[in-house]
Amino acid sequence: MTVPVSIMWFKKDLRVKDNPALNAACDAGKIIPVYIFDTSAPDGRLPGAASKWWLHESLKKLDERLNGHLQIFKGEAKDIIPELMDAFGTRHIFWNRLYEPWAIRRDKALKKQLEDNDFKVHSFNGSLLWEPMKIETKSGTPYKVYTPFYKKGCLQAAEPRYPKAPPARITYADVPDKSDGLDALELLPDINWHEDIQATWKPGEDGAADRLSTFINDAAQQYDEQRDLPAVEGTSCLSPHLHWGEMSPNQVWYAIKDKFGDSENKDIDTFLSELGWREFSYYLLYHFPDMVDKNFNDKFDKFNWRYSEKDLKAWQKGQTGIPIVDAGMRQLWQRGWMHNRVRMIVGSFLVKNLLMHWHQGEQWFWDCLVDADLANNTAGWQWVAGSGADAAPYFRVFNPVLQGEKFDKEGEYVSQYCPELKDLPKKYIHKPWEAPDDILKDAGITLGEDYPEPLVDLKASRKRALEAFDEIKGG
Ligand code: FAD
Repeated sequence: MTVPVSIMWFKKDLRVKDNPALNAACDAGKIIPVYIFDTSAPDGRLPGAASKWWLHESLKKLDERLNGHLQIFKGEAKDIIPELMDAFGTRHIFWNRLYEPWAIRRDKALKKQLEDNDFKVHSFNGSLLWEPMKIETKSGTPYKVYTPFYKKGCLQAAEPRYPKAPPARITYADVPDKSDGLDALELLPDINWHEDIQATWKPGEDGAADRLSTFINDAAQQYDEQRDLPAVEGTSCLSPHLHWGEMSPNQVWYAIKDKFGDSENKDIDTFLSELGWREFSYYLLYHFPDMVDKNFNDKFDKFNWRYSEKDLKAWQKGQTGIPIVDAGMRQLWQRGWMHNRVRMIVGSFLVKNLLMHWHQGEQWFWDCLVDADLANNTAGWQWVAGSGADAAPYFRVFNPVLQGEKFDKEGEYVSQYCPELKDLPKKYIHKPWEAPDDILKDAGITLGEDYPEPLVDLKASRKRALEAFDEIKGG
């Protein structure tokens, strides 16, 4: 197919390599690359503060890669796209599909409107290994449990697409520059709270490629053993790059397979199965879009959550007095990211020991994470809360002291993010309230002054959580 000029609408696929829509648009003819910061996203679903910073940097990189041809807009895509098609005199538009419920609604309506007016929409899968509508159980219903979803649904379906080479040539249409410009999106914070985030990450396609090769060379072969140790760089840290589509999961999947082969390898299998969890989250979100707002398991609708502004603030600021929880929450604030094991620990502490609704946690993560992702964040929080599909049972309450002692044995992670505790012997670093006075004194700590007393008694709050759960268990 040859078309004179088409719009290539970038969404969450901010890359040039392995971008099926871009490849097809470039094969067809000249392109006008466009990005829209769509303000019609539902309340609370525009990117949070950390994500906005990432998006700014990523768009800057993409624009450089496109030799300054990216036209950037702020407003409602449903209005902007038809206006641009008219203004540029083009009848074709190319995009990669999104799976957030509001984006599906928007894109379906826009597609219909365009097609009714004789425009041609060309849409592709650019962000999933297996699209949710293609995987179902034998009875035709969606999977609700991860293992059969991944092993039977995905691994026995057609192999994921092998990554495409970047377009051999990108030819830009000679059209007027109508772009609002990147700065019009106002994505950067007014105050400089993001210095550490900036120093930690390199948004953009090149940054994603660097992360992937570091992971493959340094950590992939110890992944199974090290992925639970928050003090070690044992995971890929690819989540923000995957969220923004600076790298496709196909590129990750095949980079790993090409390097390590297809033979049985526990580390590699475990890593690939984590990509499988990402697929599962998107699959659930697609088939059960209500899960963003509602408990997947409606038994939890009757759960007697409590709310305490003071406790929530202490959790958000990493001031709960429980070291591994505080270290995780401070890592989140400083780096815009938190280790997966610690996400589970801080989540369990919020919804079980503090008995607060998972939405409180999900919203804070949404604002603070550079990888904030509607599918993964919703599924992650519902998993932790016990209300999700294939979730951790509610009665399994993580003990943050034992978790700390098991996964941060030497207390290195806690010392990094709670430096006021670094001189405590490791016997007490995960439970400073048990340390004798002279040991606290030697470590320079007065509890309640240098570091908080525990916000709750772990045993009593666990009991309270289990009693609250007992009330809904049968119903
Ligand atoms: P790796 O261990 O290197 O894994 C590779 C990739 O697999 C990740 O980049 C990610 O895309 C995917 N992945 C790994 N673990 C999971 C998982 N449990 N669920 C879904 N996908 C996974 N992940 C997000 O990307 N965005 C979120 O907003 C998010 N919120 C979460 C909230 C909670 C309460 C929990 C428990 C987990 C959440 N996760 C989220 C999942 C997981 O913690 C992160 O994907 C992971 O820590 C990212 O680090 P990594 O890239 O080094 O992962």
